[in-house]
Amino acid sequence: MPAPAWQLEGLCLADPDLFTSDDNRGELVEEARDTCNRCPVQPECLAAALAEEGTTAANMRGSIRGGMTPTERWRISRPKKTAA
Ligand code: SF4
Repeated sequence: MPAPAWQLEGLCLADPDLFTSDDNRGELVEEARDTCNRCPVQPECLAAALAEEGTTAANMRGSIRGGMTPTERWRISRPKKTAA
């Protein structure tokens, strides 16, 4: 399946190494997040990440996507507890 067209507009294409860190904190993460916050396809990118990852555990996710760390994406995707 070909990559969606929006991926060609991602600002991370200019510095992909910045987005491969598994560290959820630190200077590199903040630099990557700043790039995402200026990216014209951030909404599409975050939606794609959440759709692909589903309820996958945080430690099985990788890199900053759509301006969020793996842990941040997991927090908004994890199954919610329901009252019994
Ligand atoms: S939002 Fe961030 S990770 Fe997604 S395409 Fe843009 S720069 Fe890349």
